[in-house]
Order: sequence, then C-alpha cells, then structure tokens
Amino acid sequence: MIKFSIVNLDRDGTDLSGSEPASILEIEDSDLLSCHSPIEYNLHAALVNNGILVTGSASTEINLKCGRCLKSFKYQVSSRNMCHFYEKVKNQELDVTEEIREDILVAFPNAYLCKKNCKGLCPKCGTNLNKSECSCAEEESPVLESSEEKSPWIELDKLKIEPRVKKR
Ligand SMILES: [Zn+2]
Ligand SMILES: [Zn+2]
Repeated sequence: MIKFSIVNLDRDGTDLSGSEPASILEIEDSDLLSCHSPIEYNLHAALVNNGILVTGSASTEINLKCGRCLKSFKYQVSSRNMCHFYEKVKNQELDVTEEIREDILVAFPNAYLCKKNCKGLCPKCGTNLNKSECSCAEEESPVLESSEEKSPWIELDKLKIEPRVKKR
C-alpha cells in the first residue's frame, strides 16, 4: 500500500518514495507478459484549496516476449508527471495505491515488439529473420534475375506445387 500520513500536511507538502511489490498491479503472468520487479515511486503530497494534490512518478520493469519473433526482453514502464487530486480527505492517511497502479498500467506498451523494425519469424520455415535470411521469399519471387544460367528445369521450378492437405 502506498499511503501518505496527512495529519500534519501543509501547503509545502511532504515527499514519499519507496517501492512496492509488482503484485499490486494484479496482473497474472502469461506467455507474453510477466511482472516481477518492484514498482519504484517518488511522490509528493501537498495541501491545496479544498483538498490534497499528489504528484510524482513511478516506474517498474516488465518482461515481455516479442509478438513477432518470440524473443524475451525487458521493458521499462514509467509514468512521469502523475497528478491526482483528492477532495475532502477525512482519514489520517491517504492511500494512493490504486491511482499509481492505474498510471503504471496505462504506461504499458500497446504492442510487444523487441524493436520497432523486428522482422519476425518466417511464416514458412520459422527462421528468425533478424538473425539470418531464409530462401522462402526468393522461391516465391516470380522474376528470376540471372537468365543466363537457366537450367532446363527453370520453368518447372516456377510452378508452385503444394501438397494437398485437407483442412480439418
Ligand atoms: Zn522481435
Ligand atoms: Zn523461410
């Protein structure tokens, strides 16, 4: 729980920093995403007209798997410029855990890519195209550049012969 003691809170405010276990995010591990690193936060609460203003930042590191090439990688999630206003707080403590949780979740990436231009895996042979090339794409190209060394079978090679597999 991330809580401010607000009994003596004034307009200058008070700082609160520390870390919370990733479990406050309430995210279940999946094949593509897991969160185990603590959430580090640096917050400030101050008395303002009619309420309390909490500002600051929070961050954590999550483990992702690239949606294209399946490589595992770490991703830094950070939420800066957090700003939450609480009106008429009657308790002696102000619990901001839920707001921090939401800010972190909003900062998660939309697409899990190890790098922007990840080439992914060849859909035919499964080669990781970031590391090496495969010949699948070449076989498909209809124009063959070197016409000099044509083998007698070249026309046959152009024909696309696919095994007939019944779909279930
Ligand atoms: Zn990738
Ligand atoms: Zn291939």
